[in-house]
Amino acid sequence: MGLEEQIKNQVMTATLEKFVNWARKSSVWPATFGLACCAIEMICTAANRFDIARFGMEAFRASPRQADLMIVAGTVTRKMVPAVVRIYEQMPEPKWVIAMGACASSGGIFRTYAVVQGIDRYLPVDVYIPGCPPRPEALLYGILKLHEKIKKDPFLTRKYGHIEFPDPPGNAE
Ligand code: SF4
Repeated sequence: MGLEEQIKNQVMTATLEKFVNWARKSSVWPATFGLACCAIEMICTAANRFDIARFGMEAFRASPRQADLMIVAGTVTRKMVPAVVRIYEQMPEPKWVIAMGACASSGGIFRTYAVVQGIDRYLPVDVYIPGCPPRPEALLYGILKLHEKIKKDPFLTRKYGHIEFPDPPGNAE
């Protein structure tokens, strides 16, 4: 086989952006925390029946500094917002957020002063997953949608840094 033929059969070319985004989307590590009932479905997604490891995501990290995905799974109370925002701020860039379930997306059934009516008031949400609770299949679908977004991430020109959101409510409020 000639050299030209060998190169055609064995060498793959891609842009740096495509290659890095392919690697990133194949190894997204979620932060380990849950807020309410939706978290139980998130935990099931990591078990063998749904097998999140297929997507290189089984390594839920206990330290936000090693995580690049926050799955907000459950009801976010006003008292909890400062903790959630702090975890997000401790995660290194690039990072992504999934609002899992009705509560995280819009407050769900809790139309009350004590519950935040959507975590997107405080964090930049990339994917919203409806349901109360969404089943693990729905979370996996949301993760696949996130993969599509990561694949198109213009990271060479992307502006990282702090996004202006309102200050989280203090515990004294
Ligand atoms: Fe619980 Fe439903 Fe809210 Fe999920 S959306 S945390 S299942 S009440």
